[in-house]
Amino acid sequence: MPAHARLPCDLVVMGGTGDLAMRKLLPALYYLQRDGNLHPQSRILALARARHDSSSYRRLVQRHVSQHVAPGDFDQASWQAFAERIDYLSLDVSQRVEFPRLANALGQADGRVRVFYLATLPELFAATAEHLGAAGLIDAQTRIVLEKPLGSSGQSAERINQRIAAVCDESQVFRIDHYLGKEAVQNLLALRFGNALFEPLWRNAHIEHVQISVLETVGVENRGAYYDQAGAMRDMLQNHLLQLLCLVAMEAPVHFGAEAVRNEKLKILEALRPITGMDVQDQTVRGQYADGERASERLPAYYFEKSVDHDSNTETFVALRAEIDNWRWSGVPFYLRTGKALAHRKSEIVIQFKPVPHRLFASDGRAPAHNRLVIGLQPQEDISLSLMAKAPGRGMALQEVELDLNLAEAFRRRRWDAYERLLLDVIEGDATLFMRRDEIAAAWRWVDPIIRGWQDCYRSPKRYAAGSWGPEAADSLLERYGHDWLDRRES
Ligand code: NAP
Repeated sequence: MPAHARLPCDLVVMGGTGDLAMRKLLPALYYLQRDGNLHPQSRILALARARHDSSSYRRLVQRHVSQHVAPGDFDQASWQAFAERIDYLSLDVSQRVEFPRLANALGQADGRVRVFYLATLPELFAATAEHLGAAGLIDAQTRIVLEKPLGSSGQSAERINQRIAAVCDESQVFRIDHYLGKEAVQNLLALRFGNALFEPLWRNAHIEHVQISVLETVGVENRGAYYDQAGAMRDMLQNHLLQLLCLVAMEAPVHFGAEAVRNEKLKILEALRPITGMDVQDQTVRGQYADGERASERLPAYYFEKSVDHDSNTETFVALRAEIDNWRWSGVPFYLRTGKALAHRKSEIVIQFKPVPHRLFASDGRAPAHNRLVIGLQPQEDISLSLMAKAPGRGMALQEVELDLNLAEAFRRRRWDAYERLLLDVIEGDATLFMRRDEIAAAWRWVDPIIRGWQDCYRSPKRYAAGSWGPEAADSLLERYGHDWLDRRES
């Protein structure tokens, strides 16, 4: 039996008919089943308010799973075995009186791990946990998984966390940020702490600046109602981008365990220099997409999207310059950028090293090139390092060349989806790749004053054409410091 199939588990997907469940969670569980990574006695119980019986729900799952796994990966034998594990319960999680039915459906735990995956709106998280507690469904073997974003401010996140802490221990709470489940993100840790090469250079003496970008081509799609309340800062930057920043900047933990890793990430969040007062206007850019076009297709403005307020001031783009006040990173800017309806879909981390201190080789007047380490997270997971090499022929003309590590080529194996890895970690009780309560609080402490600064200045977000690279102000932000976004140079 594979190591990961050790524990029999009841996995309860609350919000089992939703977008996340259909696109990510159930396909991930299908792969775990197909590859023998679920214990033979593990069961999946999905619930939502919609009326289904287990057969109609299984048909719904079959339709979505077959669409969302890679072509050729859906086979009838695996599907049949998977479908046999799945049941459905129609239940409103906001109603305490309905939970005894859930307890009945689950029966005695008998030492099985119970995972309650809360794939519903964050407003329902605290009440759901309380109702689980009241129904006697939380014991030492219970884990509760919370989707992001947790709350809409430090205060609201803390209220949710407090109510959950009243019914279970912090070690039982798994706050998910699926970026941490990505192979490429874990590879960043492998690169930094599994090789002697980079660590001596990984500091302000050698690194000029860092760029972290998560760029999407899609607009808000069907999530307008949620997104208009959240915006890019709460939806992406407060969680995904700050987590990536932590992994780039943290010190080596003493071991790869949940508390050691999360202690180091927390130190980084606490060392972020606050952006307050006039600095909010100076160090941050927020934008909102206007209408535009991509490949001759007209793209609507954000305020014409479904369920979005026509006068909305919600940002669909954020760029900012962050600094970490500690010994290692003092003076190194971290530029973070995320947005929707942009020219390219791409998530990457760029580490730009300082140029050589003395120019030995003749140049054609151009500034010496920088070595750059680029860690691609999406659409491809790859790592490249740009180096200077002598161009063939006479003289010593140097040219930039790339050392490419294509991870798909290097390991000719199917890449696991982030949710596969994270679901297994939850079953196994390994919280290393999940966010701890104090990390969430520290991230909000840094983000809240920026959002307040935007609200206080009464300025609208800068408009950018859908299908473009975002507002020009995002380019100027870096130009002021003599830097530019790496991809803007390529475009
Ligand atoms: P969604 O498509 O709106 O799905 C919500 C699910 O919750 C549905 O199954 C809905 O079914 C159920 N639900 C709502 N109210 C309920 C209640 N009172 N009792 C029981 N079930 C209830 O939302 P989603 O996009 O899947 O997102 C779910 C969570 O994941 C959110 O917290 C979101 O922020 C987070 N998330 C989503 C994504 C994504 O890609 N979708 C990515 C990252 C994080 P009924 O209406 O039938 O009850």
